[in-house]
Amino acid sequence: MSRTVLVTGGNRGIGRAIATAFVEAGHRVAVTARSGEGPEGTLTVRADVTDAASIDAAFTQVEAELGPVEVVVANAGITRDTLLMRMSEQDFSDVVDTNLTGSFRVVQRASKGMVRARFGRIILVSSVVGLLGGAGQVNYAASKAGLVGIARSITRELGSRGITANVVAPGFIETDMTDALPAEQQAQYKAQIPAGRFARADEVARVITWLASDDAAYVSGAVIPVDGGLGMGH
Ligand code: NDP
Repeated sequence: MSRTVLVTGGNRGIGRAIATAFVEAGHRVAVTARSGEGPEGTLTVRADVTDAASIDAAFTQVEAELGPVEVVVANAGITRDTLLMRMSEQDFSDVVDTNLTGSFRVVQRASKGMVRARFGRIILVSSVVGLLGGAGQVNYAASKAGLVGIARSITRELGSRGITANVVAPGFIETDMTDALPAEQQAQYKAQIPAGRFARADEVARVITWLASDDAAYVSGAVIPVDGGLGMGH
């Protein structure tokens, strides 16, 4: 069945791959972007996830052009890595404001239409680091772990209304960021991953399109790792 899908941060990286996968699966797809455009076949709307008013305006535009949002993927995220001893409160709160509170703002706005429609798929993009931790990533890991609490609480609140809420926890993904790592460091990381390689962004995207599908109607409150075994299922 064709759905209206909104992906935050769909102009680049994993979000762009997610948007492409939904287009290929035949859905109506909108992406939010602060800059640039989503992939071909998508509607691009401007939104900053730290600003509730801009999220509201983006949803209103998508609803007018594509219909009520039935599937939302909270993907936009940032890192401000540094060791605990050096981490400023600003570094901590900026990451939490974007990754955790930003996801809250997006799913809260999305839930209004979903409750009305008695259907919804909420998918939160976390990270293997959310449950394993990461040196230099106290802020990022806290923000990504918090998404699990959001998904599980939504599952309890809205599970009887045909709405599911799940977390996808990617491991290392082939992106500009990982490409830029020195070969030796890439090899060190790969040695820890049972699959022995990084993932392609589309391998994350296809798990997300599956979670949005009718086949996944009874999956909710789950954390689905896409990490080649790095987190051993958490
Ligand atoms: P990128 O840095 O390539 O892209 C991040 C996206 O988030 C961009 O579209 C960016 O928009 C958007 N974004 C950032 N801040 C905001 C904001 N305040 N409002 C709206 N949009 C914003 O990241 P990735 O594609 O690598 O990561 C995507 C998600 O996957 C993130 O949540 C990340 O934590 C997670 N992840 C990534 C992994 C990896 O290996 N890359 C591994 C595990 C999880 P703009 O272009 O305007 O800045």
